[in-house]
Amino acid sequence: MSHVMNTYGRQALGFVRGEGAWLWDADGKRYLDGLAGIAVNGLGHAHPRLVKAIADQAARLIHVSNIYQVPEQEALATRLTELSGMQNVFFCNSGAEANEAAIKVARLYGHQRGVQSPAVIVMERAWHGRTLGTLAATGSVKAAAGFGPVMPGFIRVPYNDLAAIQRVAAEHANVVAVLLEPVQGEGGIRVADIEYQQQLHALCRKQEWLYMVDEVQCGIGRTGTWFAFQHTGVLPDVMSLAKGLGSGVPIGACVCAGVAADVFKPGNHGTTFGGGPLVSVAALTTLDVMAEDRLLERASVLGQRLRDGLAAGLAGVSGVVEIRGQGLMIGIELDRPCGVLVAQAIADGLLINVTQDSVVRLLPPLILSDAQADQIVAQLVPLIRSFLAA
Ligand SMILES: *Cc1c(COP(=O)(O)O)cnc(C)c1O
Repeated sequence: MSHVMNTYGRQALGFVRGEGAWLWDADGKRYLDGLAGIAVNGLGHAHPRLVKAIADQAARLIHVSNIYQVPEQEALATRLTELSGMQNVFFCNSGAEANEAAIKVARLYGHQRGVQSPAVIVMERAWHGRTLGTLAATGSVKAAAGFGPVMPGFIRVPYNDLAAIQRVAAEHANVVAVLLEPVQGEGGIRVADIEYQQQLHALCRKQEWLYMVDEVQCGIGRTGTWFAFQHTGVLPDVMSLAKGLGSGVPIGACVCAGVAADVFKPGNHGTTFGGGPLVSVAALTTLDVMAEDRLLERASVLGQRLRDGLAAGLAGVSGVVEIRGQGLMIGIELDRPCGVLVAQAIADGLLINVTQDSVVRLLPPLILSDAQADQIVAQLVPLIRSFLAA
C-alpha cells in the first residue's frame, strides 16, 4: 500500500531514465514524450548542458537566503526583464505561488488607490492553481468542491468576451485587475484572439486596472515567442511564470512592469526558497539553450507540423470537433469524453494527456525532432480514429 497521499489518479507507469524526448520505464520500454511533464521539460530530459550547470552549481552553492544578495537571482531577473520588456521580478517556487504574488500585487495596488474591497476579473475555465487564493481564481467547480468558503475578490466572465468585461466595468467600481491566460492550458487549449487581448489591454489602461497574464503554461517559448503576450504587441503589467522556466527544477516568477513594479515594498511578500542559486542557474541555462538552439522558432515550426499532420490524418473523421493551439500547445477536441486514450497511448509507447474530459492535449518538449513530431501524429491518429469508430 502506498504511503503517498492519494491526490492523483496515477497511471500504472513510472520512469527510470530520460533522454531528449524519450523516457524509459524499469522494464526498458521506451516512450515518446508528448507532454514534457506538463509543459515543464522544454529542453527534454537529461539535457547535457542543463545537467552540467545544475551539477556545477550544486557543488558551489545550493541555498543561502533572500536576506543576502543572490547574484544568480539578479542575473535571472535581468534576463527575464530583457526578454519581456518588463521591469522587475519576484521569484517563488510554483505557478500557484506566482499567481498568489500577482493577486497580492493587485490587491495592494487597489488598497494604495483607496479601493476598500479590491476585485480581480478572472475567466471561465481558467486555471491558476490550487492554493486557497488561486483556487478561488481557478474556474473549476471540481477543483474547488469541498474547500469553501471560497476566498472572495474575484469576478468571473466568459473567456475571449470583451463585452462581458465592459459590463463588469460599468457595474463594479472595485475592480483593480484582470487575470488572463493568453492560451488556456487546463481549460482545453483555448487561444485568446489577438484583438481581444489588445482591446482588453486598452480597457485596463482606461480603467486603471492592472493587465495581468498567467503564462505559467504558455510562457517560456512554448507558443513560439518567449511569452505568449508577445504575439499581441501590448505589454502586461504583471506576468506569472513557472512550468517551463526551470526545466523541472521548481521555480515560479511574478514579473511586473510600470506601476505594478513599485507596489511591493520590503515586508509585503517573501519566500524561503524562491530564487535560490541552484534554481536560478537552472532557469538561466534553460533560457540560454533556448536562445542558442533557436527553440522558439522550432516551437512554431513543430506546432504547425503537428497541427497540419493531425488535420490531414483526422480530416473528415466524425467526432473530431476542432484541432487548435499555438506553437507546441495543441488541443484536439473530440465530441465525447476520451480519457481512455491516455492508457491506450501508453500501451503504444506515447505519452499524451486529456483535459476538460474531451480535449487531447499535446505539450511536447521544444527539442522534439521533425521525425518525432511525425511519429506522434502517426501514433495518435489511428488511436483517435479507432476510439471514435468504436
Ligand atoms: C499549472 C498551472 C498553474 C499552477 O502551477 P503549479 O506549479 O501547479 O502551482 C497556474 N496557472 C497555469 C496557467 C497553469 O498551467
